[in-house]
Amino acid sequence: MGAKYVYFFGAGKADGNAQMKELLGGKGANLAEMTSIGLPVPAGFTITTEVCTEYYKNNRNYPPALAAEVAENLAKVEALMGKKFGDAANPLLVSVRSGARASMPGMMDTILNLGLNDTTVQGIIAQSGDERFAYDAYRRFVQMYSDVVMGMDKHELEHLLEKKKEARGVHLDTELTASDWKELVLAFKARIEDVLGVPFPEDPKDQLWGAISAVFGSWMNQRAITYRKLNNIPADWGTAVNVQSMVFGNMGNDCATGVAFTRDPSTGENYFYGEYLVNAQGEDVVAGIRTPQPINRAKHKEGDLPSMEEVLPECYEQLVGIRDILERHYKDMQDIEFTIEKGILYMLQCRSGKRTAKAAIKIAVEMVQEGLIDERTAVLRVAPSQLDQLLHPSLDPNAEKKMIAKGLPASPGAVSGEVVFTADEAESAAKLGQKVILVRVETSPEDIHGMHAAQGILTARGGMTSHAAVVARGMGKCCVAGCGDIKVDYRGEAFVTKDGTVVKKGDVITLDGSTGDVMLGAVPTVAAAVSGDFSTLMGWVDKIRRMKVRANADTPHDARVAREFGAEGIGLCRTEHMFFEADRIAAVREMILASDTEGRKKALAKILPMQKGDFLGIFKEMKGLPVTIRLLDPPLHEFLPQAEKDIEALAATMNVSVQTLKHKVEFLHEFNPMLGHRGCRLGVTFPEIYDMQVQAIMEAACQLVKEEGYEIVPEIMIPLVAVTKELAVLRANAVAICEDVQARYGVKVKYLIGTMIELPRAAITADQIAVEAEFFSFGTNDLTQTTFGLSRDDAGKFLPAYVENGILEDDPFVTLDQNGVGALVRLGVEKGRQGRPGIKVGICGEHGGDPASVIFCDSIGLDYVSCSPFRVPIARLAAAHATLKHGNVLKTAPESCNKERSAGSTTIGLTASV
Ligand code: ADP
Ligand code: MG
Ligand code: MG
Repeated sequence: MGAKYVYFFGAGKADGNAQMKELLGGKGANLAEMTSIGLPVPAGFTITTEVCTEYYKNNRNYPPALAAEVAENLAKVEALMGKKFGDAANPLLVSVRSGARASMPGMMDTILNLGLNDTTVQGIIAQSGDERFAYDAYRRFVQMYSDVVMGMDKHELEHLLEKKKEARGVHLDTELTASDWKELVLAFKARIEDVLGVPFPEDPKDQLWGAISAVFGSWMNQRAITYRKLNNIPADWGTAVNVQSMVFGNMGNDCATGVAFTRDPSTGENYFYGEYLVNAQGEDVVAGIRTPQPINRAKHKEGDLPSMEEVLPECYEQLVGIRDILERHYKDMQDIEFTIEKGILYMLQCRSGKRTAKAAIKIAVEMVQEGLIDERTAVLRVAPSQLDQLLHPSLDPNAEKKMIAKGLPASPGAVSGEVVFTADEAESAAKLGQKVILVRVETSPEDIHGMHAAQGILTARGGMTSHAAVVARGMGKCCVAGCGDIKVDYRGEAFVTKDGTVVKKGDVITLDGSTGDVMLGAVPTVAAAVSGDFSTLMGWVDKIRRMKVRANADTPHDARVAREFGAEGIGLCRTEHMFFEADRIAAVREMILASDTEGRKKALAKILPMQKGDFLGIFKEMKGLPVTIRLLDPPLHEFLPQAEKDIEALAATMNVSVQTLKHKVEFLHEFNPMLGHRGCRLGVTFPEIYDMQVQAIMEAACQLVKEEGYEIVPEIMIPLVAVTKELAVLRANAVAICEDVQARYGVKVKYLIGTMIELPRAAITADQIAVEAEFFSFGTNDLTQTTFGLSRDDAGKFLPAYVENGILEDDPFVTLDQNGVGALVRLGVEKGRQGRPGIKVGICGEHGGDPASVIFCDSIGLDYVSCSPFRVPIARLAAAHATLKHGNVLKTAPESCNKERSAGSTTIGLTASV
């Protein structure tokens, strides 16, 4: 027997289940699951994603067995419903719905009411006793099908509809009569044939296969391709097709349709959150054409129409019951679609609901407390990249705000930017580095690229479940939706608020996605606080993860922020930032421009106390946690003035001639400073600079040990080492200074001398380098530059094109290139541990805060990652995900490492003072 291509669901039984998302797509798998657990789901069948893959493999031809399987399953649906597809008296109508493994807004729109033609419409009239409903359904079908399947410009038919309303002297669709709709169906079909040169298909079988092919065809449309790219969805997954018997929410006032979340997707509150519309079909709720109403009384606001709880109380009660069943069954917050036909409730979809980071955390924590899930599951429920939202700033409560409008708080965050009105404008402005707010009447899948590029999104129409709201929450973008206070004028490139304020393209506004406030101008923001559910979750995260997380921090202030975000040390303290401070740059320049060692030493003596003060401050903030200090790295040239008048000013204060100074500046100029006189090469040529820095570090440590009883193990890091000898020489110098300082202070202080691995040669010879190094820190920014042979500062001109054209999957400066740079890191770790068993290894490039890179770092057994303070929680969570994924990788490491590790735990106290 060949593969099974079609899976049936109906009347409590289903061929598939929720585990089969790969084969049936998310929608199909969950329709099957809901059917099996006894929920009221209209019968139907799912054509598998495998068919989609085969379809493309075979030049858009179906597997030969498919047609028979579809016919067989259609017959099953007919039998169950007591109706026949295409029958004149008792016709079955179906919807055709796409459904990939992951929900994909870029896919084909659903086609409803399929199976209607001039004959079957009579059967619907006879059955429903409602001619107007029947022709309304028919014309909707013709509109949808011609647009989605036949590729007809939908404005063509909308124009005919407008003309009809004009002729009848009415404004609303609801004011048109049965015969109006009937005439429109005729007119629509005539127009379609005129424009496209082919008739509208009458035969329901043709309609069905047309729709199925359109779904599979949409897998390769531009929108879907863009969406897949943005969300890292592989093209070979394919989509499934769901064919399902129709139920009607638009047959009168005992009918309705709605969408709901089993908990609030914005706050995470354990509260049944939904919107519905009486007498409406399918997309009406999310399309923003009519403003939907809350399903329950409690969330009622002034001016809302009655809730479903009041209008359809029995259905509401039943839905509340289903909410509980779904949560207990899936053990997660669900996003559901339902329709009520003549007082009977049907479930049309469920899936795990998109949520804000705040909601994700609250739901995960509360579900543990409710006994639904365990801590590990809770930790996996929050995506590390999502935390970014929470760590984002909010509006400064003390700032002055000029409120101009209020909408729905659709997705939190606070952002400012210039107003633009199209997705393309948003994208091109963002490419130029401008911050923009995309303002739309409502958004659609065509706007995804613009939503991605914008800081935030503001829409005039649509509810909390509108396209804009759902997509923005998924992206972690700030969004204010359904802002009825504004009137958007695309042609005039402006919007007007209720109070008459005109906001033009290019004007700056601020959005608060947590309150729905829209303000004029840029409102200042304040940093996020980490507490409550967030710290509960992070407590579990810290219990689970193996890898440590440190921060890159250069000042006591950054060190404090890092600790507040849970950093367990500083992985990279860059000393050059201290050299730039206004009060010391003069001394630094004096040092650089000195003509001999004596002159340099004199200047360095002025810098020494300041550097010592820096380290005292940082050590105090870190309260004994490890601090890795990198000795001076950038080329000296960077510290010198470039502009004519700055050079003149410096010459005056230094009492040298402008000419001399210019010569010096020229002399220090380099063609490739990135590969030039920097890092340990400075230490080799001007040893007194590193000597001063080591002295400052050691004096600060000794003073705190002696006077305040601190336990500190400073980690002195020598950058840009390529050959072992460089390190050997510099280390010997540093050890001499350290010993000398300790002798002067009369205390013993443990310290480590290590190196950055940021050149391929260092990674390749890491076993030899490790003999001289007590720790390694992979400087993956430079290692990426030197491995690829590209300069990050110049890469902006071509790297985006590489990513766009798929030559590179990701920007290697954002996500570690695992196959190339990552392989060098892996090699460096292995060789390093051969050269010095148990050597402590970490990473301090920007990759330390990128979740995918963190997970890779765990897999190759790094002891820690270090990243910017604000990304520390992201890295902690990613590290926990990594442990849950890999287990403790070091348990399987070579014997020698094991011994070393169990003896010394994570902070191995190898010292140089032997
Ligand atoms: P999407 O993937 O965009 O959510 P859906 O396939 O869920 O698309 O369908 C869009 C709308 O059509 C939804 O509101 C859904 O409830 C409605 N719908 C789909 N199938 C049926 C059906 N068999 N009967 C009634 N409404 C349906
Ligand atoms: Mg849906
Ligand atoms: Mg570097």
